Amino acid sequence: MFCPKCGCILRPTDKGGKRVLACGCGYVAGKSENFNLKEKGMENKKIEVVDSKINILPIIEIICPKCEHKKAYYWTKQTRAADEPETRFFKCEKCDHTWREYS
Ligand SMILES: [Zn+2]
Ligand SMILES: [Zn+2]
Repeated sequence: MFCPKCGCILRPTDKGGKRVLACGCGYVAGKSENFNLKEKGMENKKIEVVDSKINILPIIEIICPKCEHKKAYYWTKQTRAADEPETRFFKCEKCDHTWREYS
């Protein structure tokens, strides 16, 4: 096997009790390294999904009780008891005032 970084021949080395193929330039061949890279990528993806969900809240026409702006973001949240209706939350598009409505 050859090193993909510099083209040298990889030599068997002991690393953390495991026998791996390594190169003098610091490259280490092995499944463990690839696995770590994959996991990191997945973590980043998860965070991105959460962020985009927060940013894409639907806007409805409702009058803000604070500044009387006519549009606000809204989302719903289920209360602890499953048989209770969900609570609607509103956030004014203009002044960021947040309030909720019990249905
Ligand atoms: Zn190398
Ligand atoms: Zn407002």
